Amino acid sequence: MNDCLFCKIGAKKIPGKIVYEDDRVFAFEDINPQAPTHILISPWKHFSSLTDAAQEDAALLGHILLVAASLARERNLLEGYRTVFNNGAGAGQSVFHLHLHLLGGRTFRWPPG
Ligand code: 5GP
Ligand code: ZN
Repeated sequence: MNDCLFCKIGAKKIPGKIVYEDDRVFAFEDINPQAPTHILISPWKHFSSLTDAAQEDAALLGHILLVAASLARERNLLEGYRTVFNNGAGAGQSVFHLHLHLLGGRTFRWPPG
């Protein structure tokens, strides 16, 4: 997608602190972190949100979750970390390229705001 911020970060057309990448996903530091660790994990493939994913994307979505778990392990977040997909403006989504938030390094309340 030509006009997508996260496609551009993935393509390294605009700067981003990429902390992990493989053949399916890339992960980078959130520019406005909401916790000591705040990483976004996105597929190279552009989707607006989970709503646009199809059955054929099941393995990719599972992979995104496993990358989050692996990064959490790597960063010693095992006391508690949060993984969040915001889907749609009403849920707080502001960038319409699917991304999983991985947040850790502090305690979290439930329910979220
Ligand atoms: P959303 O609100 O769509 O769930 O999450 C979008 C996230 O992207 C926000 O946490 C926001 O801080 C982050 N973000 C927005 N613009 C940029 C950017 O240019 N670079 C990086 N690294 N993160 C961004
Ligand atoms: Zn995109």
